[in-house]
Amino acid sequence: MHELSIVASIVDTVTESAAAYKGARVVEVRLRVGALASVVEDSLQFCYGIATEGTALEGSRLVVNVLPVVMHCVPCGADVELEGVQSFRCPKCGEPCFDLRQGRELEIEAIEIDEMDEVEEKR
Ligand SMILES: [Zn+2]
Repeated sequence: MHELSIVASIVDTVTESAAAYKGARVVEVRLRVGALASVVEDSLQFCYGIATEGTALEGSRLVVNVLPVVMHCVPCGADVELEGVQSFRCPKCGEPCFDLRQGRELEIEAIEIDEMDEVEEKR
């Protein structure tokens, strides 16, 4: 299951970021996942529960924002959003598109951290 290795690397990255905040607890991790990234959200969620066990992320939420596929259409001279991943044709003019602008992303968009009460104010 390749989602597990994806989630494991996300957990590593977030753990490193969270380490800068002493005693902080990760509340939420938001991901941007392109429609062509070929990951299944259900699997991500399932693996997240396993991979976060015993880490600073345990009990946190995973939010997956799926990004639509965006291609640059030469005849239209514009970036167009495809309706699905089955057909790589411009929805406006019907010409095939090859210039992918968005859709393969798999990155952390935001991490929400709950700082504990005892955290001192930054000076
Ligand atoms: Zn077009």
